[in-house]
Amino acid sequence: MTPFEELGLSQPLLNAISDLGFEKPSEVQEKAIPVLLENETDLVALAQTGTGKTAAFGFPMIQKIQADSRTTQGLILSPTRELCLQITNELQLYSKYVKGLRTVAIYGGASITEQARQIKKGAQIVVATPGRMKDMIGRRMVDISKIDYCVLDEADEMLNMGFYEDIKDILSNTPEEKFTWLFSATMPKEVAQIAKKFMHKPQEITVGTKNAGSSTVQHEYYTVGGRDRYAALKRLADANPGIFSVIFCRTKRDTQKVAEKLIEDGYNAGALHGDLSQNQRDLVMNAFRKKQVQMLVATDVAARGIDVDDITHVINYQLPDEIETYTHRSGRTGRAGKSGISMVIVTRSEMRKIHAIEKKIKQDFISKKIPTGIEICEIQLYHLANKIKETEVNTEIDGYLPAIHDVLDGLDREELIKKIVSVEFTRFYNYYSKTKDLNTSEPSKERSERRDSGGGSVRYFINIGERDGYDWMSLKDFLRDTLNLEKEDVFNVDTKGSFSFFNTDASLTESILQTFTDFKMKGRFINVEVSTKPGSGSGKKRNRGDRRSKFKKGGGDRSYSKKGKKGGRGRSKGGKHPGFFSLILY
Ligand code: ADP
Ligand code: MG
Repeated sequence: MTPFEELGLSQPLLNAISDLGFEKPSEVQEKAIPVLLENETDLVALAQTGTGKTAAFGFPMIQKIQADSRTTQGLILSPTRELCLQITNELQLYSKYVKGLRTVAIYGGASITEQARQIKKGAQIVVATPGRMKDMIGRRMVDISKIDYCVLDEADEMLNMGFYEDIKDILSNTPEEKFTWLFSATMPKEVAQIAKKFMHKPQEITVGTKNAGSSTVQHEYYTVGGRDRYAALKRLADANPGIFSVIFCRTKRDTQKVAEKLIEDGYNAGALHGDLSQNQRDLVMNAFRKKQVQMLVATDVAARGIDVDDITHVINYQLPDEIETYTHRSGRTGRAGKSGISMVIVTRSEMRKIHAIEKKIKQDFISKKIPTGIEICEIQLYHLANKIKETEVNTEIDGYLPAIHDVLDGLDREELIKKIVSVEFTRFYNYYSKTKDLNTSEPSKERSERRDSGGGSVRYFINIGERDGYDWMSLKDFLRDTLNLEKEDVFNVDTKGSFSFFNTDASLTESILQTFTDFKMKGRFINVEVSTKPGSGSGKKRNRGDRRSKFKKGGGDRSYSKKGKKGGRGRSKGGKHPGFFSLILY
């Protein structure tokens, strides 16, 4: 029996699950599904975002519903239009082998008559936002007087958004003898009240600790002056070339402003907030899903429940007013077992809030420094070198090659590499070489990750990274195991797409380089280099023979080449920075 079969799910669902590639149930699914299948009961389930709640109520609801009757039997209320569409989409996938079952979404901002028409065709399951639901009940466009099951999804957020009265009204149109399943990431007293008022002896399920943030997320904060917020944001993006992120602002206006500035500065960014038309919001969300937009700037309300996996970073451009909101924000990353980073840009006066959040999420923040211009150049350079290496050769150029050879005639390999890299890199260098340090000093914290690099710490480059399945924790483990070191010996581990950085005490450098000389793992050379700072001129050329390694192809890279605009990323004047280039000439 497969793990899903053991939960008591029927064959049509099992087939769909296998199509979806789900291998085993998540914790909330494991706990909720048997309870809901075997009993007719009310349920309160607390689980963070990204834990698979949709299937936890979706599978049992689909299995319990009579698909051969056209009556609406299940109602799912969710706070936003985006979420409503997502749930509908998921349920349609889950029920694709259940003949005759129809799930219809109703939400504001789209044609109400069209939605009414869809309902009229028969919808055993209706997924709705509270506002539109109330509206349609009032116009008798939907009948929920015979439902058996009602789900309140993201209940905390619905109440947060002021839907209490609407929910009360809607529930008054449902039969007394139905079962209510409430799902929520957190349990503020408003949710407890709803449970008390509208539910009868609900069974309770809690996944993880109540109110805790997801443990696969690393929380970092960066202290800057208030006026440097935007510059800091840009640096964080530039220091993470493969970034795929949601950036949270407090107001619609700031959201729009930050997105516009990013676009102007050449980033693949988009805005998501309530002042945009539905059409605009759809466009942005689609582009984000396809990773054409790498930085989605959003308000809390608009971003709630966005179910996009693989988000690498959540950036809190400003902290939210409510601590609870932080949990929702950081829950956008670290989904489906992956790790993620939640970054907060703060001013010194906001430090109190960081401590309050730490208490709430029961996890410590790491104090980090905004990378310097030079550090960013370094990261971008390695990234570029790797990108060149991974680029698939386009055979369309074959016919032009003889002519291109003529043009490039007389350049040796070394010169050619320098020039190719400079094409893109100089723009970065010109922008960053003269910028200031953005970090404001703060009282030193014991758990600060970044150590005094002047005091004899050495930074290394290693040619494995996220695409090889590492995050900072697992890479740290790998390094400690391989090098036989203690927990504190390896620090500042920063994983990027196909490479990473880490630090150790300078006294360890020799033995580390020794260990990684001709070091092979699964047939591939693992290369560690001291990450030389430009200007120091000590980039040694090494020749360690053939180290052609296979990198998996990854997407989502921002291309600077086509988008350089004003703001210092303008045209290259042909800078020369020998310290950099020697690094990539193995
Ligand atoms: P939540 O509602 O708790 O925030 P979702 O229901 O939106 O979480 O699920 C998050 C993601 O995880 C979705 O992309 C979903 O398809 C995926 N997922 C859900 N259950 C499983 C599972 N058992 N195995 C693998 N992926 C899953
Ligand atoms: Mg959900």
